Amino acid sequence: MKWRYYMMQKNYQYDYQTTTWIDISIPIHNGMVQWPHDPPVRVERVMDLERGDGHNMSQLLMGSHTGTHVDAPLHFLKNGAGIDEFPLNIVNGKVRVLEVSNESINPGDLTNQNIRPGERILFKTSNSSLIHNSDRFTEKFVFVTEKAARFLVDNRVSLVGIDYLSIGSYQGGSAIHRILLSAGIWIIESLDLSDVIPGEYEMVCLPLKIVQGDGAPARVILRKLD
Ligand SMILES: [Zn+2]
Repeated sequence: MKWRYYMMQKNYQYDYQTTTWIDISIPIHNGMVQWPHDPPVRVERVMDLERGDGHNMSQLLMGSHTGTHVDAPLHFLKNGAGIDEFPLNIVNGKVRVLEVSNESINPGDLTNQNIRPGERILFKTSNSSLIHNSDRFTEKFVFVTEKAARFLVDNRVSLVGIDYLSIGSYQGGSAIHRILLSAGIWIIESLDLSDVIPGEYEMVCLPLKIVQGDGAPARVILRKLD
């Protein structure tokens, strides 16, 4: 089910225009898109007022890399930091949304952007409309190439984010993750940037504090900087 439709059905208020903060997280729901062979999302009421229980309570079952989430270094590095050790000051603060309209993100997309050490970069690509509108996984999404990943390392960015389930390609994603994570660059994946105009923002990103977690779902919001 398309989540917009889902939200409409539930009568949720979801108007980006009237709020100061822009929510760039994907709503978590049954049947949502996931990486192939990851556990499907199940949000199941185990106590239900409708059934006469004293309260509502749900059981949540999902992979740690489904929906909007942060990758911990431990995702690909044996002795890497867990998500519970993530540095609040690196994952939160001023961020730049860069739009790339190509089929992959290459050094040529970055060289003229005056990327500075310590910067946080979120890539807005055509993935945003995919992730926004479809619960079906596609192998064909816009990703950061190995050369671009090395460019980001050389330019000492502190964080990168992308608007699909992986920062790297479907087949070659492991190498990209290793390059970035081993350089101390934190990764946010599955952002929905469809309503975000490229530019500078303040970001708040808070992944769940899972002890020695390889990653965790996060709520991520942006606020325009003057
Ligand atoms: Zn991930």
